[in-house]
Amino acid sequence: MPVTRYHAEYAWLGGSDAARDVLIDVRDGRIEAVTPGVPAEGTRLPGLTLPGLANAHSHAFHRALRGRTHTGAGTFWTWRERMYEVASQLDPDSYHRLARAVYGEMALAGITCVGEFHYLHHGPGGTRYADPNAMGHALIAAARDAGIRITLLDTLYLSSTVDGSPLHGVQRRFGDESIDDWASRIDGLRREDHAVVGFAAHSVRAVPAPALAVLDPGKGPFHVHLSEQRAENEACQARYGCSPTEFLDRSGLLGPNTTVVHATHLTEADVTRLRDTAVCFCPTTERDLADGIGPARALTEAGARLCLGSDSHAVIDLFEEARAVELDERLRTERRGHFTPAELLAAATAHEPLGWTDAGRLAPGYRADLVTVALDSVRTVGAEPLSAAVFAAGAADVRTVVVDGRPVVVDGRHQTLDVARELRESIG
Ligand SMILES: [Zn+2]
Repeated sequence: MPVTRYHAEYAWLGGSDAARDVLIDVRDGRIEAVTPGVPAEGTRLPGLTLPGLANAHSHAFHRALRGRTHTGAGTFWTWRERMYEVASQLDPDSYHRLARAVYGEMALAGITCVGEFHYLHHGPGGTRYADPNAMGHALIAAARDAGIRITLLDTLYLSSTVDGSPLHGVQRRFGDESIDDWASRIDGLRREDHAVVGFAAHSVRAVPAPALAVLDPGKGPFHVHLSEQRAENEACQARYGCSPTEFLDRSGLLGPNTTVVHATHLTEADVTRLRDTAVCFCPTTERDLADGIGPARALTEAGARLCLGSDSHAVIDLFEEARAVELDERLRTERRGHFTPAELLAAATAHEPLGWTDAGRLAPGYRADLVTVALDSVRTVGAEPLSAAVFAAGAADVRTVVVDGRPVVVDGRHQTLDVARELRESIG
């Protein structure tokens, strides 16, 4: 394979400042060399080039709810009823089309890898499809069609409450008969080059203690929703006499292969328990659903590794998620300056919680994922390069996206999909 040479006006190589005039040699989908301070040669990338962004928490079908649940007051729980209506209507073909469009929107936003927390497994009433993984396979195909990688986190969902009440209504599409049924089903998921298969427990609400106890995060990546709502904490306290975090800890589920999602309502002891775990914040969803503000800085100080997700896709913009982590802390503490731009970019590009240890850095040997952000747009012009990305840019400022050495977005346009049309046609 010949070398493709990219010349980045600026590139973030992991430090506190952007490097200038960086030559990036790519061969066979990998970065071969990264050399700052070289005069322009090869394909020019004007602006700031970042490693690929990783969207660590997605439920693709929630995109169909954007802008449709904002009238009236409502809570997380009334929003959930609307979400269930959307879930009730999808089949493998229509979910493939919707997810392809959503992942196309992610590619346009600079996301090169998605962690899909997948629980819409079965047909109406819980009826198995001929291929019991038809929905998961539709998602894997959708990511490939959109030009991005996926970590499919096949989700165990067995009960409707922390007391172990059975699933009802649309939830029956989410559930397997037992943990053994679930485990044998996910053994049948096809492995493809652009996909990692991981697993998830939906939450302490949806997986009873005996099932949680036999899960092995060592076979991860393993993800779980945690303490998004105070009601979950109260139910867990009533049932198990402890917080959801302590309950996961007692069940042996915290540690380096685990990512907890939200971690909004934590005690100080919970924060300490999460010191070896990855924590995924989803600030635009958490604000949309009025969840609250999680203790991002305290978790980071304890040792937890931060990653980011667009979750319900009220917004698909990891720059917005990244700055929200800092800006929410400012609102809470009435002080500025909790995270550096480099720390926030590290969270936005963290691939290891998705099981990709060779992505997320512009360095030799890593996957050739390049995301170039314009520094001359009306939003970004005049800002320092790293601050521009974190505090000024939006998804619309992404100009070039290369995934595994393949150009997927050029001049702000997806190379194979008309994403807006596909979204319009699949959302209806
Ligand atoms: Zn979620």
